Order: sequence, then C-alpha cells, then structure tokens
Amino acid sequence: MEKDVLKKPKKGKIFIISGPSGAGKSTLIEDALKYLPNFERSVSVTTRPKRKNEEQNKKYCFLNEDEFKKMIKSDELLEYADYCGFFYGTPKKNVESILKKGKNLILEIEVKGAVQIKEKIKNSYMIFITTTSFTELENRLKKRNTEQTEDIKNRMKTAAIELEYQKYYDCIIVNNNYNEALLNLIYILKTQGENKDGL
Ligand code: 5GP
Repeated sequence: MEKDVLKKPKKGKIFIISGPSGAGKSTLIEDALKYLPNFERSVSVTTRPKRKNEEQNKKYCFLNEDEFKKMIKSDELLEYADYCGFFYGTPKKNVESILKKGKNLILEIEVKGAVQIKEKIKNSYMIFITTTSFTELENRLKKRNTEQTEDIKNRMKTAAIELEYQKYYDCIIVNNNYNEALLNLIYILKTQGENKDGL
C-alpha cells in the first residue's frame, strides 16, 4: 500500500505528531482539529488496555496481542512499535481511506514509528510537541490519573529517549502555555497543509 500512496499523488499530506507522554499532544490535536476541516486523525491499533474514559475505535482500536501480531504478519500496518510494554500501530487501510478523500492526515505516534513513516513517505511533515521541564511532564501525568505509579516511571524513562529524536523533526512546539502552543500547532498545520505538493 505504501507504494500506492507514493505513486498516486493525492492532495492529502501526512503530519506526524510525537512527543513525550504528558506533553499534551492529544488535547492539542483534538482542539486544533476543530479549526481544520481538511484534516483527520487516524485510528491506531494497540494492545494497551482501554482506559475508563476511552471508547473502542475512537482514538484506538483495542486488540489482544494475537490479533495485533496477525496484523503484522498479514502486512496490514504501515508502521508499528512497542511503547512501555504494549504494541501500537497504524493500519494501512485507515491511512489510505483518509488520504483518498483528499484530506490531510494526522498521525499521533511515538518516535520509532514516526521515523518508519518518514523513511517510507518522504514529504510527511514531522512535529514534535514537548515541554521545557520533566517535572511538568510528570506532574501532568499524575494529574490526568490514567496510569499507575510504575507506568508513569516507565513513561518518564521513555521520555528521555524520545527527546533524543527531536532532531529528526521539522518543527518543535513547546507546550508550556496551552493557548500559545495551540495557535502554533494550528498555524503550522494550516500553512504546511496548504502546501499541497502531493505524496
Ligand atoms: P498512550 O498509551 O498514551 O495513548 O500512547 C502512548 C504512545 O503511543 C504515545 O506516544 C502515542 O503517540 C503513541 N501511539 C499511538 N498510536 C500509535 C501508533 O499507531 N503507532 C505508534 N508507533 N505509536 C502510537
């Protein structure tokens, strides 16, 4: 499928958004999408257990490990990676259907998957969202109360590795002030999304 996406120039462009847990990626994307009718985010598959406030097939399709491995085996994923002990992946068919509509696609994915996509689809645009302080990340994770203490520690350890990947990104947004970060994200997506040089 990557070949199809690469061959047929569609108007939609792929935007990869990554950053450490607690940086505010999901909320920023959700709010930015309200102002960006020509953008859609893809639904990922994951083996992570569903949180109380999450719905099946909204942000994630929750699978067991066998189901996930089946998708890997049958080459249904554009990229996948493990993150803090669980698998996360982007189904090719979700990407294809959004791009076919001529819409820009937002992939909120971790750094290893991001690099895989960039290798396959060169003109995808990579945005890294972060804060200037680890303490702030940790505080936000504690406050959102979706992970156990051990998981938070794991996510903080992973954050240190993720920060090393910033150099591969086209742009970095520092989310210390939410409204500023949101305006920056909308501006970047709008201006880069209008630059329709196809895939
Ligand atoms: P969370 O468990 O907090 O929802 O997500 C953990 C990490 O997995 C986040 O960095 C998120 O961006 C990333 N992620 C979500 N979906 C995917 C995906 O399809 N592929 C990859 N590689 N990472 C993903």
